Amino acid sequence: MQLPYAEPFKIKMVETIKKSTREEREQWIKDAKYNLFNIKSEQVFVDLLTDSGTGAMSDKQWSEMMLGDESYAGASSYYKMKKAIKDILGFEYFLPTHQGRAAENVLFSVLVKEGDIVPGNSHFDTTKGHIEFRKATANDCTIDEAFDTTIQHDFKGNINLEKLEKVLKENPAERIPMIIVTVTCNSSGGQPVSMQNMRDVKALAGKYGIRVVFDSARFAENAYFIKKREAGYADKSIKEIVKEMFTYADAMTMSSKKDAIVNMGGFIGFKDEDLFKQASVFGIIYEGFITYGGMSGRDMNALAQGLDEGTEFPFLESRVGQVAYLGQMLKDYGIPIQEPFGGHAIFVDAKRFLPHLPKEEFVAQTLAVELYIESGVRAVEIGAILADRDPVTRENRFPDLEFLRMAIPRRTYTNNHMDYIAASLKNVFDRRNEITKGVKIVKEAPIMRHFTVELER
Ligand SMILES: *Cc1c(COP(=O)(O)O)cnc(C)c1O
Repeated sequence: MQLPYAEPFKIKMVETIKKSTREEREQWIKDAKYNLFNIKSEQVFVDLLTDSGTGAMSDKQWSEMMLGDESYAGASSYYKMKKAIKDILGFEYFLPTHQGRAAENVLFSVLVKEGDIVPGNSHFDTTKGHIEFRKATANDCTIDEAFDTTIQHDFKGNINLEKLEKVLKENPAERIPMIIVTVTCNSSGGQPVSMQNMRDVKALAGKYGIRVVFDSARFAENAYFIKKREAGYADKSIKEIVKEMFTYADAMTMSSKKDAIVNMGGFIGFKDEDLFKQASVFGIIYEGFITYGGMSGRDMNALAQGLDEGTEFPFLESRVGQVAYLGQMLKDYGIPIQEPFGGHAIFVDAKRFLPHLPKEEFVAQTLAVELYIESGVRAVEIGAILADRDPVTRENRFPDLEFLRMAIPRRTYTNNHMDYIAASLKNVFDRRNEITKGVKIVKEAPIMRHFTVELER
């Protein structure tokens, strides 16, 4: 008999979570104006809002916290982080930042100017935000297969090289400060980019003299998928694959709240000393001196240790395996989800779940509310509310895909929790025809409305 994968850790400390009644949850969600961001965490039983900063640190990471060097300049913690980034990712230079979007802010302050074009694969929302804030444009070159949840494709995060070359051909090189490759691609469902695609993008970029930057929050999960799915990598270690991946990048931005398994932190990696020096100026203004940049010494220590643990195969097998365990259960129940399963989350196709609801009634948000009421599981809408209004016409934008995202925190929940989540969604699925009304917006902010939007049933 094949042995099942099992978590390569045991539990040393626990945090109590509380169950609640359906009546309590109906009241709480009503008081929260049907916005899950307004729900208190103690009113949640299983929290799948995000996998960002919500993972569990190891005993070694907590030990490293005690060893943190809080010196303003030249702390040993800085050198620990520098060594981990050099050894594991291969970047000679780096700047710490307080999280991923801060890394984007510092790097883009050097690179992105008004009128620029930044091609990439479904840019993450903060990445796009930092590009558009500078009056530049993010150009999405993701392969078309990514946008059909029913198509099986091993690397739905891939960049379509023809789309990319068209952008490079039609614009002067000085208007294109970089190509951004997001590994894994969050916006298309936690989908990986193949090594071949990274190699091809780098070669094409080289032909036009353009730099490649990896948005790397989930680089280790991406490496895991390469090992499992791409020819020639089955016998390579995750660390070997990671090393090769980053040979195709000139720089990287990192939200360490994901694959480095810390609660807060980020950084920029550079191959080029000159770019590092230019970015250091902005790093100092926005984040802090270059040897701490928005992080405490203890947090840099935990991050360095987390980079090592996050790139170990047994951990990744259980992490991605747990997400797939949940995905397979949902699939067996006939619940429509994005396939293949993502590395960090399961994306439920809300339009196929509730086909009778009109899009104007915010289908994925309705599903998020129903799931919460059913069982206290908190997931998040990735759909029309998140898509906001068109900045010019002020009309609601309705994206092709309405997702309910269930992001799984690292090393935090057991497979019993996965069973609980699956049963909750199955119950909602069984009564889907009774869900005849969605939600409508009562109040909304002019931008990034999803955090504060007020809704009515
Ligand atoms: C989370 C994330 C970011 C932003 O990082 P924060 O730490 O949340 O600021 C950028 N890109 C990707 C792909 C991410 O997943």
